[in-house]
This record gives sequence, structure tokens and C-alpha cells, in this order.
Amino acid sequence: MPRRKFADEEVVMGRWPGSVLYYEVQVTSYDDRTHLYTVKYKDGTELQLKESDMRKLHENNTNRYNGEPDITEVNSSSQSILERQRIESERARERILERYSLHPRKEEKRTEEKYSEERIFETPKTVGKVCLKTKELEFGGKIGAFFMIFLLPGTVFYLLLMCTQKDPSVMNFPPPFPTFESLWETRVFGVFLLWFFLQALFYLLPIGKVVEGTPLLNGIKLGYRLNGFYAFILTAAAVGISLYFEVELYYLYDHFLQFAVSATVFSVVFSIYLYARSLKASEQELSAGGNSGNIIYDFLMGRELNPRIGNFDLKYFCELRPGLIGWVVINLAMLLTEMKVQHLNLPSLSMILVNSFQLLYVVDGLWNEEAILTTMDIIHEGFGFMLVFGDLVWVPFLYSLQAFYLVNHPNEISWPIASAIVALNILGHFIFRSSNSQKNLFRRNPKDSKVAHLKVIPTATGKNLLVSGWWGLVRHPNYLGDLIMALAWSLPCGFNHILPYFYVIYFTVLLIHREARDEHLCKKKYGLAWEKYCHRVPYRIFPYIY
Ligand code: NDP
Repeated sequence: MPRRKFADEEVVMGRWPGSVLYYEVQVTSYDDRTHLYTVKYKDGTELQLKESDMRKLHENNTNRYNGEPDITEVNSSSQSILERQRIESERARERILERYSLHPRKEEKRTEEKYSEERIFETPKTVGKVCLKTKELEFGGKIGAFFMIFLLPGTVFYLLLMCTQKDPSVMNFPPPFPTFESLWETRVFGVFLLWFFLQALFYLLPIGKVVEGTPLLNGIKLGYRLNGFYAFILTAAAVGISLYFEVELYYLYDHFLQFAVSATVFSVVFSIYLYARSLKASEQELSAGGNSGNIIYDFLMGRELNPRIGNFDLKYFCELRPGLIGWVVINLAMLLTEMKVQHLNLPSLSMILVNSFQLLYVVDGLWNEEAILTTMDIIHEGFGFMLVFGDLVWVPFLYSLQAFYLVNHPNEISWPIASAIVALNILGHFIFRSSNSQKNLFRRNPKDSKVAHLKVIPTATGKNLLVSGWWGLVRHPNYLGDLIMALAWSLPCGFNHILPYFYVIYFTVLLIHREARDEHLCKKKYGLAWEKYCHRVPYRIFPYIY
């Protein structure tokens, strides 16, 4: 065991990187391998420091830290030297505060806002930074995680079963759970596997450019092949050929619950594999949120951040391919089934709207595939049961709930109503797409002419925060757009039942919770600069409401 001088939770003086100034910091952890301490400054900034850059608190220092640096570099009793040092240290401090945009003292006058990325200075060195143990557990901790593992599939099956009822009112008693025999069919599982591996094959095709993701904690950038849109075109061609040869997509509707069971079984086995392989992963490859040491919690949250088999990125593949493209195919199957069971020559207007809106969403996501590389899922989330199940079961089987519902619960809508719903969807889509693209472009190239004019707040990490444009309206404009669209997807189902509104209700809860998680992460990451951003942009998702 290497000897360490400072204990966890201990309050010590830590040198601010690149300066002669020492601030009071609290030790949060120590890495035996790199011999670096992770320390937290009063403004929330977390950095890693060498032992030589840290000191014990002065025994006679009764002046508790209030953002004042402790000048301990020179020790002289001379009044003038001390005075010179004081002035010099104030200057140095000003330079550093400006440099890293850190303003630990509340009464400090605000420095002028910087409007250009060029004014951002070097990033504090965090070389050798590795993933730390997860201390703050989410979703109700270990017990919450245990229940989530059952709650997620339970919700899917409850909603799908309810949707098969003639009167799908959630006030009704749930229908009896089907027998195991009726839920499992090996052929269905085979079709699911075929689908999954077909998508994997499309992913492997050497078409589409390879781009770099955002830097990981260790500074490495992973390469990602962008060929999701090609995969979609190839899938469309395959589905078209199947229909030409009279393959009945009705099979998908007829065995819908069995497909959901197959996808769930696959997700469980896949997640076990992911957990097992994560035990061999190096610390640098672990996610910050799924490394608690508790097997259930880490299984749910995902220990490894970017599990890969060679260049095959399992998380990136699952995020956009089998589930997302599968959702469109399921919707199409529902559309054809509706025509069949309702004896229609053309699909209903409601079904056309639901299909078109969701097709647009998926195609747009695949066309702008690169934007996913700056999302929370790719940057922060470990790949465990929650994401696997979300990608492979929740998205395809629950996001298609409106189309599934319309098959047996038709809802006629007039053209004016349909036009209003279309307008709502276009509005939501516009906000969603432009805000996501704006942030993505800004993160990739802040000097791009489309974003270079936007106002920013510099942060201590060297990354800036947008404070004008979409990201100056609310702190999550992309969530706002997504929620407006979610409403537009449910409206074609009418107001007879709440079931088709599940998506917009669940999505509101999810995005509010997600926003809080992101807020927490950003506060940790950006400290005072994030607080400044929140002050400038007070609303989270809904302008003037929330
Ligand atoms: P975001 O794409 O909003 O990513 C959040 C990150 O953006 C932050 O961690 C921060 O990361 C960066 N950021 C935050 N504020 C600013 C700012 N002012 N300027 C610059 N960068 C900023 O979140 P998500 O990954 O949750 O969502 C991505 C999209 O996916 C959204 O449109 C969302 O609606 C959608 N989504 C859809 C789901 C679905 O099931 N349909 C589920 C979840 C999300 P950093 O600073 O490190 O770059």
C-alpha cells in the first residue's frame, strides 16, 4: 500500500494549477495507481492534485477560507515584502480568476463576459485522471436499482397487455398475465436475433465517414463510423423486398408480446455479458456513474463506459440501430395491420400522422447521427441493463404504442385538426433539431461561422457554455422541442384513453429527471461558471414556467 499523507474528507490547502496560490480544498479520494488526490474547491471545481501541491492547514490559521488564497510560497517577516506579496498575490489571483473564470468570493465584481472561444485559455492539467468510485447513487440507490430491474420490463408488459384490451382504460383491472408458453416462441426469438445481427452487419460495412468522439477522461478520443442512415436505407430495401415477396409484417403484430419477451431475454443476457466483461476493464474504461461496487446497481447503470469488441462499439450501435430502426418497422407493421383488421384501402389519417412523425424523428436522428456523440448517453452513461433495455425493448415496443393502440382503437380526425397537429410537430422538431445541432456544432468547432457569434461563459475546464441562441432561451431547449413533438405524436389517438399519452407523460418525467441529473453533473464539472449560467438562463425546459 503506498503511503498517503492526506485522508479522505480532510481539509487541506491545495495549489491552484499553474499558480503560486493555495486554496482550501477538501480531499474526496486518492488514486493508488496515479498517486493523485481528487480535491474539491469551495466553488465546486474538482481537480486532481499531486501530494507535493498540497499542504496541511496552518495550525494557527484561524482565518477560515472564504475564497482567499493562502500565500505560503515566501516566508518573510518584513512588512514591505508582505505588502508587495499581498499586491502581487492579488494581481496573480485576478489573473487566475479571469483565466479560469473562477470567482470564489460572492462579493467579487463580475468580470466582463467573454464572447469568443479564442479567449479561452489552457485547460488545467488533469493528466492521468481516471474514473472514480461512484459515491452518489441515483434511482433510490441499491434498493431502487433492484426494483428498477423489474419495474422496467413490468411497465412494458403492463402497457402492451392493456393495449390489447377492447377497453384499454388504465382504471380497469389489469388483464391476467399470459401463460409462459404463450409468451415464448423460439422462432420469434430467432427472428429477433436475425434482426439484431443484420443491423450489426450493416454497422460493420465500411461505408460512411469515421469521426472522433469527445475526449474521454483520459484524453483519448474514440472513432465512430457514421453509417446509420445507410443502415436505414438498406433496411428499407430489405423490408421492401420482403413485402414484394409477400412476407406478412402482420406476423410482428400477431407475435408482438413474444417479440417483446425475446428482446427482454436478450437484453438481460447481454447486460450480464456487459457486466462480466467490465470486471476485466481498466479503471479508465469505467463510467463515473456505474462504478459503485454494488453488483445490482452497477449491473443496472453499466460499469463500462464504451464497451467495444475491436472497433465495434456496443453502446453506440445499440443506441441508434436495432431499436430505433426497429421502431419504424414496427410502426409500418401496425399500419399494414390496421388496414387488414379495419378493412381499409388506405391507412387512417391518425395512423399516417403517427407513422410520418415518428419516421421523421428516426430518419432525422440517423441523418444527424454525429449529434449523438455529444449526448449524455454517449459521454457519461455506462452501458448496463438500463440503457440496453431502453435501446432494445423500451424504445421499439413502447414508442410504437400509439400505432399499436390505433390498430384496434381507431380515431377519426378532421383535416383542420390534422393540420394543427402537423404544425405542432413541425414546431417541436424545429426547436429540437436546431438546438441539438447548435450545441453539437459548438462543441465540435466553436469557431464555425454558424456559432462563432454566440455569447459564451468560459469555464475552468476550458470548455465554454453557450448563453445565447437556443441555449440562452432555456437550459435544455432540445428537451422542450422533444416534448412538443411527443405531444403531437399522441394527439392523433384522440382523447378517449390516456394510454396513448403514456409516451408524453413518461417523457416529461424522464426529461425533468434527466435535466436534474445533467444539472448535477454540470455543476460538478463547471462549478461557479455553471451557477453563472443558471443565473443568466433561469428556466430549465419551459420558458417562464420551469
Ligand atoms: P444534451 O444533449 O442536452 O446534453 C447535455 C450536455 O450538454 C451537458 O452535460 C453539457 O455537456 C452540454 N451543455 C449543457 N448546457 C450547455 C450550454 N449552455 N452550452 C454548451 N453545452 C452545454 O442532453 P441529452 O443527452 O440528455 O439529450 C440529447 C437529445 O436526446 C435531446 O434532444 C433529448 O431530448 C433526446 N433524448 C431523447 C430520448 C428519447 O427517449 N427519445 C431520451 C433522452 C434524450 P458538456 O458541457 O460536457 O458538453
